[in-house]
Amino acid sequence: MPSYILALDQGTTSSRAILFDRSGAPVAVAQYEFPQYFPQPGWVEHDPDEIWESQMKAAREVIRESGITAHDIAGIGITNQRETTLLWDRKTGRPVCNAIVWQCRRTAAICDRLRAEGYEEMIRTRTGLVIDAYFSGTKIQWMLDNIPGIRTRAEKGDLAFGTVDSWLVYRLTGGRLHVTDPSNASRTLLYNITEHRWDRQIFETFHIPEALLPDVVPSSGVIGETDVSLFGTSIPIAGIAGDQQAALFGQGCFAPGEVKNTYGTGCFLLMHTGDRPVASSGGLLSTVAWGINGHIEYALEGSIFVAGAAIQWLRDQLGLIEQAADSEALALSVEDSGGMYLVPAFVGLGAPYWDMYARGLMIGLTRGTTRAHIVRAALESIAYQTRDVVETMTKDTQIPINSLRVDGGTAANEFLMQFQADILQVPVDRPAVAESTARGAAFLAGLGVGFWQSRDDLPVNQDIHRYTPHMAESMRDQLYDGWQEAVRRSRGWEREVNKVKN
Ligand code: ADP
Repeated sequence: MPSYILALDQGTTSSRAILFDRSGAPVAVAQYEFPQYFPQPGWVEHDPDEIWESQMKAAREVIRESGITAHDIAGIGITNQRETTLLWDRKTGRPVCNAIVWQCRRTAAICDRLRAEGYEEMIRTRTGLVIDAYFSGTKIQWMLDNIPGIRTRAEKGDLAFGTVDSWLVYRLTGGRLHVTDPSNASRTLLYNITEHRWDRQIFETFHIPEALLPDVVPSSGVIGETDVSLFGTSIPIAGIAGDQQAALFGQGCFAPGEVKNTYGTGCFLLMHTGDRPVASSGGLLSTVAWGINGHIEYALEGSIFVAGAAIQWLRDQLGLIEQAADSEALALSVEDSGGMYLVPAFVGLGAPYWDMYARGLMIGLTRGTTRAHIVRAALESIAYQTRDVVETMTKDTQIPINSLRVDGGTAANEFLMQFQADILQVPVDRPAVAESTARGAAFLAGLGVGFWQSRDDLPVNQDIHRYTPHMAESMRDQLYDGWQEAVRRSRGWEREVNKVKN
């Protein structure tokens, strides 16, 4: 048996390839950022070819750098930014337009219409989701309605819809497979999570032709092989999961009540809920964790759209820092945020608010406000948003969260981790290998090819660093009250200014 599993982790800002050995250690990593396109305020796009090329570059580099060959790889696991929507020509493999990224708000008006027409309850019970521009369904609709000639080609069966996993598998197999897994399917707004199939009533309501939809295959198990031309030999593709579900798997959250929070571009807190979806009364999503051997497990999710992306914004749009990591020292250079708050509602607010019209704000500015205060407020906003979700989740499940397992690129920030523990008043546990997402994909693929025999056999336990809360309760409450007030003031902004303009 070959000695490695290759995980392809196609994120929102970069594509990574990581080689894992049998002990679960990442033995080599390659990563390439790719361009983000913002054609209009609130719009976000990626070029599908840039996604593919950056992913392939990372995969080839990791193989080359580690001195192995493709023969040493037992299987490939894919994990990906979810909901991001692609449409391509089945024959040529050419995308018909840029990918519409999960953060993109261009379909807010379509969502308003669906809600006004009374579809909210039907969508929630069948898909576990709320009607929001975040999910793929309305993005597909937008493409079909706005790109000339597309609808006819879609109806004839000439086009394929896919989330990023589908796109990568399609390209990896030389165009032979058009598939997705249940965890990704459950983010499209088109998938019935209790009946485990595309929901005809929904895709017909959305006027989305069935011919566009991929086949749904298990999250773990061999589904195909890579085209020989790519790596010199074919490699089994044996695992697929959306990034957040993969992280849940990678953190070993296999039992009901187990929770993880991933701090990447956004922040995603997921709790495993067992064999049944748990309905939320407070703005969380019921979602498929993974589907293996015809058996589906579920999770409850709080999705925060902007976390690490706020740090990127400080770097790229404001030029306040040179690198994301600089934010830590700057935040620690001041005692507090000087009474200011930053609500990074750049693309509206996700859980638990679901306000597509909220926009970012900074409030509490004085003549004394410095760049360090702004940077600190941006990091603090990530912890406050997480508390918003934790409070909702505790209410919905009645399961107290006694500690929080964390991972993701932004979790590298020590200041943030300590502040998170303080604001939640629960310990925060960060594993030494923060690559839970890629690890989860590797685990799914490894189980799929028999590299590991069972979940008990998976090397999930590892070094954990614990951040223990020590902030005084009065301080914590005062800070959080201020945050809630700042959020209140950011709500509905886009709608309000449009009223004024009209
Ligand atoms: P994704 O998979 O969503 O692309 P990653 O898990 O790779 O995200 O994390 C990337 C994010 O982490 C970026 O938004 C970046 O701004 C942020 N980031 C990376 N290092 C730090 C750090 N030391 N402090 C704060 N943010 C960081």
